[in-house]
Amino acid sequence: MVLVFSDDKKLTLEMLSKGSELAKELGKKLTAVVIGKNDDALAKEYIAHGADKVFVAETDIESFKAEEYTELLESIIKETGAETVLIGSNKNGKELAPRLASRLNTGCVTDCTNLYFKDKKLTTERIVYSGNAIAVEQFNSKPQIATIPSKVFDPLPKDDKHTGDVVKKKFDVEKSASKILKIQEMKSEGVNVEDAEIIVSCGRGFKNKDDIKLVDDLAEILKGRTVGCSRPIAADLKWLAEEHWIGLSGHKVKPKLYIAAGISGQIQHIAGMRDSGVIVAINKDPEALIFKSADYGIVGDLYEILPKLTNAVKEKMG
Ligand SMILES: Cc1cc2nc3c(=O)[nH]c(=O)nc-3n(C[C@H](O)[C@H](O)[C@H](O)COP(=O)(O)OP(=O)(O)OC[C@H]3O[C@@H](n4cnc5c(N)ncnc54)[C@H](O)[C@@H]3O)c2cc1C
Repeated sequence: MVLVFSDDKKLTLEMLSKGSELAKELGKKLTAVVIGKNDDALAKEYIAHGADKVFVAETDIESFKAEEYTELLESIIKETGAETVLIGSNKNGKELAPRLASRLNTGCVTDCTNLYFKDKKLTTERIVYSGNAIAVEQFNSKPQIATIPSKVFDPLPKDDKHTGDVVKKKFDVEKSASKILKIQEMKSEGVNVEDAEIIVSCGRGFKNKDDIKLVDDLAEILKGRTVGCSRPIAADLKWLAEEHWIGLSGHKVKPKLYIAAGISGQIQHIAGMRDSGVIVAINKDPEALIFKSADYGIVGDLYEILPKLTNAVKEKMG
Protein backbone atom coordinates (compact mmCIF):
# COMPACT_ATOMS: atom_id res chain seq x y z
CA MET A 1 0.00 0.00 0.00
CA VAL A 2 1.04 3.59 -0.71
CA LEU A 3 0.19 5.97 2.11
CA VAL A 4 0.07 9.76 1.81
CA PHE A 5 0.01 12.29 4.64
CA SER A 6 0.28 16.03 5.02
CA ASP A 7 -1.55 18.51 7.22
CA ASP A 8 -1.67 20.72 4.11
CA LYS A 9 -4.62 19.81 1.89
CA LYS A 10 -3.13 21.17 -1.33
CA LEU A 11 0.09 19.28 -0.80
CA THR A 12 -1.86 16.09 -0.06
CA LEU A 13 -3.73 16.47 -3.37
CA GLU A 14 -0.42 16.91 -5.21
CA MET A 15 1.07 13.83 -3.52
CA LEU A 16 -2.04 11.76 -4.27
CA SER A 17 -1.33 12.30 -7.95
CA LYS A 18 2.19 10.81 -7.73
CA GLY A 19 0.98 8.26 -5.15
CA SER A 20 -1.68 6.94 -7.50
CA GLU A 21 0.91 6.46 -10.23
CA LEU A 22 3.15 4.49 -7.84
CA ALA A 23 0.23 2.47 -6.45
CA LYS A 24 -0.93 1.53 -9.96
CA GLU A 25 2.54 0.36 -10.88
CA LEU A 26 2.67 -1.76 -7.71
CA GLY A 27 -0.91 -2.99 -8.17
CA LYS A 28 -1.65 -1.70 -4.64
CA LYS A 29 -4.12 0.66 -3.03
CA LEU A 30 -3.54 4.35 -2.33
CA THR A 31 -4.48 5.61 1.14
CA ALA A 32 -4.66 9.20 2.39
CA VAL A 33 -4.43 9.87 6.13
CA VAL A 34 -6.50 12.50 7.94
CA ILE A 35 -5.55 13.17 11.54
CA GLY A 36 -7.59 14.48 14.40
CA LYS A 37 -10.89 15.33 12.82
CA ASN A 38 -13.68 13.46 11.19
CA ASP A 39 -14.05 15.53 8.06
CA ASP A 40 -16.25 13.75 5.52
CA ALA A 41 -15.95 16.51 2.91
CA LEU A 42 -12.16 16.31 3.03
CA ALA A 43 -12.21 12.50 2.79
CA LYS A 44 -14.52 12.77 -0.27
CA GLU A 45 -12.17 15.27 -1.89
CA TYR A 46 -9.16 12.99 -1.40
CA ILE A 47 -11.10 10.11 -2.96
CA ALA A 48 -12.15 12.27 -5.91
CA HIS A 49 -8.46 13.07 -6.41
CA GLY A 50 -7.25 9.50 -6.52
CA ALA A 51 -7.29 7.98 -3.00
CA ASP A 52 -8.73 4.45 -2.81
CA LYS A 53 -9.07 4.78 0.92
CA VAL A 54 -9.02 7.55 3.51
CA PHE A 55 -7.84 6.58 6.97
CA VAL A 56 -9.26 9.00 9.54
CA ALA A 57 -7.32 8.79 12.80
CA GLU A 58 -9.64 10.25 15.42
CA THR A 59 -7.63 11.73 18.29
CA ASP A 60 -7.86 14.54 20.76
CA ILE A 61 -4.60 16.04 19.49
CA GLU A 62 -5.30 19.74 19.01
CA SER A 63 -2.23 20.98 17.22
CA PHE A 64 0.86 19.49 15.65
CA LYS A 65 3.52 18.12 17.94
CA ALA A 66 6.17 16.04 16.24
CA GLU A 67 6.39 13.46 19.06
CA GLU A 68 2.62 12.81 19.08
CA TYR A 69 2.25 12.75 15.30
CA THR A 70 5.23 10.37 15.03
CA GLU A 71 3.62 7.92 17.44
CA LEU A 72 0.31 8.18 15.62
CA LEU A 73 1.76 7.74 12.11
CA GLU A 74 3.88 4.84 13.33
CA SER A 75 0.72 3.10 14.56
CA ILE A 76 -1.12 3.84 11.30
CA ILE A 77 1.75 2.51 9.16
CA LYS A 78 1.90 -0.67 11.25
CA GLU A 79 -1.88 -1.06 11.19
CA THR A 80 -2.21 -0.54 7.42
CA GLY A 81 1.00 -2.34 6.47
CA ALA A 82 1.96 0.58 4.22
CA GLU A 83 5.21 -0.04 2.38
CA THR A 84 5.58 3.33 0.67
CA VAL A 85 4.91 6.48 2.68
CA LEU A 86 4.81 9.97 1.17
CA ILE A 87 4.92 12.88 3.62
CA GLY A 88 4.41 16.51 2.62
CA SER A 89 7.63 18.46 2.98
CA ASN A 90 6.32 21.48 4.82
CA LYS A 91 7.62 22.57 8.23
CA ASN A 92 5.70 19.91 10.16
CA GLY A 93 6.35 17.16 7.61
CA LYS A 94 10.07 17.84 7.78
CA GLU A 95 9.99 17.26 11.55
CA LEU A 96 7.81 14.21 11.25
CA ALA A 97 9.35 12.13 8.43
CA PRO A 98 12.89 11.56 9.80
CA ARG A 99 11.53 10.83 13.32
CA LEU A 100 9.18 8.30 11.80
CA ALA A 101 11.98 6.67 9.80
CA SER A 102 14.11 6.43 12.91
CA ARG A 103 11.27 4.82 14.90
CA LEU A 104 10.65 2.32 12.11
CA ASN A 105 14.37 1.78 11.57
CA THR A 106 14.05 2.53 7.89
CA GLY A 107 15.26 4.96 5.21
CA CYS A 108 13.94 8.43 4.47
CA VAL A 109 14.67 10.58 1.42
CA THR A 110 13.72 14.22 1.82
CA ASP A 111 12.50 16.78 -0.72
CA CYS A 112 12.07 14.40 -3.64
CA THR A 113 11.37 16.01 -7.00
CA ASN A 114 10.63 12.70 -8.68
CA LEU A 115 9.86 9.11 -7.68
CA TYR A 116 9.64 6.01 -9.85
CA PHE A 117 10.41 2.32 -9.84
CA LYS A 118 13.64 1.10 -11.38
CA ASP A 119 14.75 -2.52 -11.11
CA LYS A 120 11.68 -2.98 -8.87
CA LYS A 121 13.11 -0.52 -6.34
CA LEU A 122 11.60 2.80 -5.38
CA THR A 123 13.96 5.38 -6.85
CA THR A 124 14.00 9.03 -5.85
CA GLU A 125 15.51 12.17 -7.32
CA ARG A 126 16.29 15.30 -5.34
CA ILE A 127 18.15 18.49 -6.08
CA VAL A 128 21.51 18.82 -4.32
CA TYR A 129 24.49 21.21 -4.29
CA SER A 130 22.31 24.31 -4.61
CA GLY A 131 20.64 22.97 -7.72
CA ASN A 132 23.84 21.96 -9.52
CA ALA A 133 23.19 18.22 -9.39
CA ILE A 134 20.41 15.68 -8.96
CA ALA A 135 20.94 12.85 -6.48
CA VAL A 136 19.34 9.58 -7.58
CA GLU A 137 18.79 7.19 -4.67
CA GLN A 138 17.11 3.84 -4.08
CA PHE A 139 15.58 2.35 -0.96
CA ASN A 140 16.90 -0.86 0.53
CA SER A 141 14.50 -0.89 3.48
CA LYS A 142 10.75 -0.82 4.07
CA PRO A 143 8.60 1.05 4.74
CA GLN A 144 10.20 3.54 2.38
CA ILE A 145 9.56 7.10 3.47
CA ALA A 146 9.88 10.06 1.11
CA THR A 147 9.03 13.71 1.64
CA ILE A 148 7.65 15.78 -1.24
CA PRO A 149 7.77 19.58 -1.44
CA SER A 150 4.77 21.53 -2.68
CA LYS A 151 4.35 22.35 -6.38
CA VAL A 152 6.36 19.36 -7.60
CA PHE A 153 3.36 17.39 -8.86
CA ASP A 154 0.03 18.59 -10.23
CA PRO A 155 -3.10 17.16 -8.55
CA LEU A 156 -5.18 14.76 -10.63
CA PRO A 157 -8.35 16.30 -12.05
CA LYS A 158 -11.31 15.86 -9.69
CA ASP A 159 -13.28 12.72 -10.53
CA ASP A 160 -16.47 12.44 -8.49
CA LYS A 161 -17.08 8.97 -9.95
CA HIS A 162 -13.91 7.60 -8.35
CA THR A 163 -14.92 5.54 -5.33
CA GLY A 164 -13.10 4.73 -2.12
CA ASP A 165 -13.56 3.67 1.49
CA VAL A 166 -13.38 5.85 4.54
CA VAL A 167 -12.02 4.03 7.59
CA LYS A 168 -12.23 5.70 10.98
CA LYS A 169 -10.29 4.62 14.01
CA LYS A 170 -9.78 6.15 17.44
CA PHE A 171 -6.22 6.48 18.69
CA ASP A 172 -5.02 7.35 22.17
CA VAL A 173 -1.66 9.00 21.89
CA GLU A 174 0.69 9.48 24.82
CA LYS A 175 0.84 13.20 25.54
CA SER A 176 4.14 14.83 24.72
CA ALA A 177 6.11 16.42 27.56
CA SER A 178 6.55 19.57 25.48
CA LYS A 179 4.00 22.36 25.71
CA ILE A 180 3.12 24.95 23.08
CA LEU A 181 3.00 28.19 25.03
CA LYS A 182 2.23 30.61 22.25
CA ILE A 183 1.69 30.56 18.51
CA GLN A 184 2.61 33.87 16.95
CA GLU A 185 1.63 34.51 13.38
CA MET A 186 4.32 36.02 11.18
CA LYS A 187 3.68 39.62 10.21
CA SER A 188 2.64 39.52 6.62
CA GLU A 189 1.96 41.98 3.84
CA GLY A 190 -0.46 39.39 2.50
CA VAL A 191 1.82 38.53 -0.45
CA ASN A 192 1.60 34.93 -1.57
CA VAL A 193 4.10 34.30 -4.34
CA GLU A 194 3.63 30.54 -4.07
CA ASP A 195 0.03 30.69 -5.31
CA ALA A 196 0.47 33.58 -7.77
CA GLU A 197 -0.34 32.98 -11.43
CA ILE A 198 1.76 35.88 -12.66
CA ILE A 199 4.93 37.15 -10.98
CA VAL A 200 7.10 40.10 -11.95
CA SER A 201 10.45 39.82 -10.16
CA CYS A 202 13.28 42.25 -9.56
CA GLY A 203 16.96 41.74 -8.83
CA ARG A 204 20.20 43.59 -8.27
CA GLY A 205 19.85 45.24 -11.67
CA PHE A 206 17.68 47.82 -9.87
CA LYS A 207 19.71 50.76 -8.60
CA ASN A 208 17.35 52.11 -5.95
CA LYS A 209 14.51 50.89 -3.78
CA ASP A 210 12.11 53.41 -5.33
CA ASP A 211 12.77 51.97 -8.80
CA ILE A 212 10.91 48.80 -7.77
CA LYS A 213 7.83 50.83 -8.68
CA LEU A 214 8.63 49.76 -12.26
CA VAL A 215 7.88 46.11 -11.44
CA ASP A 216 4.95 47.15 -9.25
CA ASP A 217 3.43 49.00 -12.21
CA LEU A 218 3.76 46.03 -14.54
CA ALA A 219 2.54 43.58 -11.90
CA GLU A 220 -0.41 45.85 -11.15
CA ILE A 221 -1.82 45.73 -14.67
CA LEU A 222 -1.18 42.01 -15.13
CA LYS A 223 -3.69 39.65 -13.56
CA GLY A 224 -2.01 38.32 -10.42
CA ARG A 225 -0.32 41.54 -9.34
CA THR A 226 2.47 39.77 -7.50
CA VAL A 227 5.99 41.07 -7.11
CA GLY A 228 8.86 38.66 -6.50
CA CYS A 229 12.57 39.24 -6.03
CA SER A 230 15.99 37.64 -5.86
CA ARG A 231 17.72 37.07 -2.54
CA PRO A 232 19.82 40.27 -2.40
CA ILE A 233 16.70 42.44 -2.70
CA ALA A 234 15.05 40.81 0.34
CA ALA A 235 17.96 39.52 2.40
CA ASP A 236 20.77 42.06 1.88
CA LEU A 237 19.14 45.31 0.79
CA LYS A 238 15.83 44.60 2.55
CA TRP A 239 13.96 46.58 -0.12
CA LEU A 240 11.19 43.96 -0.07
CA ALA A 241 9.93 41.60 2.65
CA GLU A 242 11.04 37.96 2.66
CA GLU A 243 7.58 36.97 1.39
CA HIS A 244 8.71 38.14 -2.07
CA TRP A 245 11.99 36.17 -2.05
CA ILE A 246 12.15 33.42 -4.65
CA GLY A 247 14.71 30.64 -4.94
CA LEU A 248 16.42 27.81 -3.19
CA SER A 249 16.34 29.48 0.21
CA GLY A 250 13.24 31.54 -0.59
CA HIS A 251 9.86 30.52 -1.97
CA LYS A 252 9.37 27.94 -4.68
CA VAL A 253 6.92 29.22 -7.27
CA LYS A 254 5.11 27.85 -10.29
CA PRO A 255 3.21 30.72 -11.94
CA LYS A 256 1.90 30.63 -15.49
CA LEU A 257 4.09 33.65 -16.28
CA TYR A 258 7.34 34.69 -14.57
CA ILE A 259 9.01 37.94 -15.61
CA ALA A 260 12.55 38.41 -14.25
CA ALA A 261 14.01 41.90 -14.56
CA GLY A 262 17.63 42.62 -13.60
CA ILE A 263 18.16 39.08 -12.29
CA SER A 264 21.32 37.26 -13.39
CA GLY A 265 19.85 33.74 -13.14
CA GLN A 266 22.17 32.08 -10.64
CA ILE A 267 21.20 28.47 -10.00
CA GLN A 268 19.87 29.29 -6.52
CA HIS A 269 17.30 31.67 -8.02
CA ILE A 270 16.43 29.31 -10.88
CA ALA A 271 15.80 26.51 -8.33
CA GLY A 272 12.78 28.46 -7.08
CA MET A 273 11.15 29.39 -10.40
CA ARG A 274 12.29 26.84 -12.98
CA ASP A 275 8.84 25.19 -13.08
CA SER A 276 7.10 28.41 -14.18
CA GLY A 277 4.98 28.10 -17.34
CA VAL A 278 6.49 30.90 -19.44
CA ILE A 279 9.65 32.70 -18.33
CA VAL A 280 10.51 36.15 -19.67
CA ALA A 281 13.91 37.63 -18.81
CA ILE A 282 15.01 41.25 -19.12
CA ASN A 283 18.76 41.78 -18.74
CA LYS A 284 21.27 44.16 -20.28
CA ASP A 285 23.92 41.43 -20.43
CA PRO A 286 23.29 39.15 -23.44
CA GLU A 287 25.42 36.47 -21.75
CA ALA A 288 23.35 36.49 -18.52
CA LEU A 289 22.57 32.97 -17.29
CA ILE A 290 18.87 33.78 -16.92
CA PHE A 291 18.48 33.63 -20.72
CA LYS A 292 19.29 29.89 -20.61
CA SER A 293 16.15 29.31 -18.54
CA ALA A 294 13.96 31.85 -20.34
CA ASP A 295 11.35 31.22 -23.04
CA TYR A 296 11.61 34.86 -24.11
CA GLY A 297 14.65 37.04 -23.56
CA ILE A 298 14.81 40.82 -23.88
CA VAL A 299 18.36 42.15 -23.97
CA GLY A 300 18.36 45.74 -22.81
CA ASP A 301 18.13 48.24 -19.99
CA LEU A 302 15.26 47.43 -17.65
CA TYR A 303 14.76 51.16 -17.05
CA GLU A 304 13.79 51.54 -20.71
CA ILE A 305 12.09 48.20 -21.25
CA LEU A 306 9.81 47.92 -18.20
CA PRO A 307 7.86 51.20 -18.82
CA LYS A 308 7.48 50.26 -22.51
CA LEU A 309 6.27 46.78 -21.61
CA THR A 310 3.84 48.18 -19.04
CA ASN A 311 2.41 50.61 -21.59
CA ALA A 312 2.15 47.90 -24.25
CA VAL A 313 0.26 45.59 -21.85
CA LYS A 314 -1.96 48.51 -20.79
CA GLU A 315 -2.86 49.22 -24.42
CA LYS A 316 -3.47 45.55 -25.17
CA MET A 317 -5.71 45.11 -22.14
CA GLY A 318 -7.64 48.26 -22.92
C1 LIG B 1 23.13 28.75 -0.18
C2 LIG B 1 22.65 29.87 -1.07
C3 LIG B 1 21.29 30.05 -1.21
C4 LIG B 1 20.82 31.07 -2.07
N1 LIG B 1 19.48 31.20 -2.20
C5 LIG B 1 19.01 32.13 -3.10
C6 LIG B 1 17.61 32.26 -3.33
O1 LIG B 1 16.78 31.58 -2.73
N2 LIG B 1 17.20 33.17 -4.24
C7 LIG B 1 18.08 33.98 -4.94
O2 LIG B 1 17.62 34.79 -5.76
N3 LIG B 1 19.39 33.88 -4.71
C8 LIG B 1 19.88 32.99 -3.80
N4 LIG B 1 21.22 32.91 -3.57
C9 LIG B 1 22.08 33.97 -4.16
C10 LIG B 1 22.44 33.69 -5.61
O3 LIG B 1 23.58 32.89 -5.68
C11 LIG B 1 22.72 35.01 -6.34
O4 LIG B 1 23.75 35.72 -5.65
C12 LIG B 1 21.50 35.93 -6.46
O5 LIG B 1 20.41 35.21 -7.00
C13 LIG B 1 21.85 37.09 -7.38
O6 LIG B 1 20.79 37.99 -7.39
P1 LIG B 1 20.55 38.93 -8.65
O7 LIG B 1 20.42 38.12 -9.86
O8 LIG B 1 19.45 39.84 -8.27
O9 LIG B 1 21.89 39.82 -8.67
P2 LIG B 1 23.14 39.78 -9.62
O10 LIG B 1 23.70 38.42 -9.74
O11 LIG B 1 24.04 40.88 -9.17
O12 LIG B 1 22.55 40.14 -11.06
C14 LIG B 1 22.07 41.39 -11.44
C15 LIG B 1 21.75 41.30 -12.91
O13 LIG B 1 21.14 42.51 -13.32
C16 LIG B 1 21.63 42.84 -14.62
N5 LIG B 1 21.47 44.29 -14.77
C17 LIG B 1 22.15 45.29 -14.14
N6 LIG B 1 21.68 46.48 -14.49
C18 LIG B 1 20.69 46.24 -15.38
C19 LIG B 1 19.82 47.10 -16.11
N7 LIG B 1 19.86 48.43 -15.98
N8 LIG B 1 18.91 46.53 -16.94
C20 LIG B 1 18.84 45.18 -17.10
N9 LIG B 1 19.65 44.33 -16.42
C21 LIG B 1 20.54 44.86 -15.56
C22 LIG B 1 23.05 42.37 -14.64
O14 LIG B 1 23.48 42.13 -15.96
C23 LIG B 1 22.97 41.09 -13.81
O15 LIG B 1 22.76 39.96 -14.63
C24 LIG B 1 21.72 31.93 -2.74
C25 LIG B 1 23.09 31.72 -2.59
C26 LIG B 1 23.55 30.71 -1.77
C27 LIG B 1 25.04 30.51 -1.63
